[in-house]
Amino acid sequence: MTQVTGGFAELDLLPSIVAAVIATGYEEPSPIQAQAIPVILAGHDMIGQAQTGTGKTAAFALPILCRIDPAKKEPQALVLAPTRELALQVATAFETYAKQMPGVSVVAIYGGAPMGPQLKAIRHGAQIIVATPGRLCDHLRRDENLLSTVHHLVLDEADEMLKLGFMDDLEVIFNAMPESRQTVLFSATLPASIRAIAERHLREPKHIKIAAKTQTVTAIDQAHLMIHADQKIPAVLRLLEVEDFDALIAFVRTKQATLDLTSALEAKGYKVAALNGDIAQNQRERVIESLKDGRLDIVVATDVAARGLDVPRITHVFNVDMPYDPESYVHRIGRTGRAGREGRALLLVTPRERRMLQVIERVTGQKVAEARLPNPQQVLDARIRKLTASLKPLVGEAEASHGELLDRLIADLGCEPRALAAALLRKVTHGQTLSLAELEREQPLVPSAPRERTPRSGEGREPRERRAPLPLAEGRVRCRTALGTRDGIAARNLLGAILNEGGLAREAIGRIQVRETFSLVELPEEGLERLLGKLKDTRVAGKALKLRRYRED
Ligand code: AMP
Repeated sequence: MTQVTGGFAELDLLPSIVAAVIATGYEEPSPIQAQAIPVILAGHDMIGQAQTGTGKTAAFALPILCRIDPAKKEPQALVLAPTRELALQVATAFETYAKQMPGVSVVAIYGGAPMGPQLKAIRHGAQIIVATPGRLCDHLRRDENLLSTVHHLVLDEADEMLKLGFMDDLEVIFNAMPESRQTVLFSATLPASIRAIAERHLREPKHIKIAAKTQTVTAIDQAHLMIHADQKIPAVLRLLEVEDFDALIAFVRTKQATLDLTSALEAKGYKVAALNGDIAQNQRERVIESLKDGRLDIVVATDVAARGLDVPRITHVFNVDMPYDPESYVHRIGRTGRAGREGRALLLVTPRERRMLQVIERVTGQKVAEARLPNPQQVLDARIRKLTASLKPLVGEAEASHGELLDRLIADLGCEPRALAAALLRKVTHGQTLSLAELEREQPLVPSAPRERTPRSGEGREPRERRAPLPLAEGRVRCRTALGTRDGIAARNLLGAILNEGGLAREAIGRIQVRETFSLVELPEEGLERLLGKLKDTRVAGKALKLRRYRED
């Protein structure tokens, strides 16, 4: 098998980190990662201009993990993030990348949760702190030496932190850290206020910015659809109903995503295959040949696996996951519109990736029009159009070969020609729904994400996910997983996984609360350790469940 480890193996990262990254399904470093990782590993201060979606979290998390000493049970790295949501996300990313580094632990510190357990986690030896500035300052007021051992500082989304009014808190935090530390600053924009911070607190920083050369794309009809991450697969299925494509390539970011989308498409009867770095070279060539000659119509690929793929039949490119930069976008959509043919490119955008869409529009100098999900009426029209098109060449022609048989069937069945035609239609459409009322009933609602920027839950405001804890039944405890709706998780997925893998009776499991970035499950206190042991390696929706007891005090 040709395992594509991409450039990760060449970046001087610890082997255990490279292994964890590859296990996550990443095939090669994104451009910001390829540039930032060597700079951070070399110990330089750095300013990285990058927005969400470029892979910036791993760009700082991977090199910093290489510099953590697991034997030292004290804070060594601090990441500051503007919101609780981002802090949790970054902490989860660190945990994922540190999976094969025993002894490394991460704590997330944010407002709206009790301070006691956060402090306890630091005292218990967490080496990495991911915090929102306001809450971290509350901790510093109680213990001014809290950060005295921290040698790596990252400011993530620095411009957002300043917008939320954290300037003074940042100064307090800078002053609580050793001057010899390494400081890395990531920001989507570099206004004067950010440059002033860099001047005061960074030492000869290296600047990293992904060059955005202007690119031209013609002959490709481009559109985007705003969608929540967990709705991507149903949205793709719905879009495919109405798109008239010859061959289509769908781009996703990870191996797992190629497999998930491929199986959803297969289940709907599409001729589809996955292309990812795990696919052996000869198999890869077979997939491309099949796409060329029509044995396959759809390929779901990662960027690496699609390299060099040139198939003139491709009429559509679906960017199911956002590319890392505009160049990669232009490169991807250039797979269609070959040989003077018309091409169509569709980009799915999650609310957090809105900025990336703007960057793409700026660099390509073109507006990417907004598309809407087809409604049931449009789906029905498209189905009937396809049926009509498939029957058209047979009408008139099939009567000569099948007319006699038709007469005989009408006689044998003793029915009207219309009744027989309806029966044949049902047979050829394989039970496909072709009535509007039924379609409206069966098509699950796929909500589009709102266009407006949803206000972030900064400190000082009511955090979006903050809720009063629900009272617990006697003998039950609450457990937490970092999987939530943004991972495509619903309560039934968690329930199914815990029932199957944990061997529990349904009544043993209490309430399940699924939030955007985490979920809580009520489980019996008795035998909890054993249960968590059984669930140790359980995966839900392709991701590690990692259920832990959640202590709220
Ligand atoms: P970020 O810009 O850090 O918010 O990352 C955006 C998304 O890209 C996250 O879902 C990451 O898991 C994913 N990601 C980051 N780096 C890579 C990579 N090298 N290959 C594939 N996916 C990645």
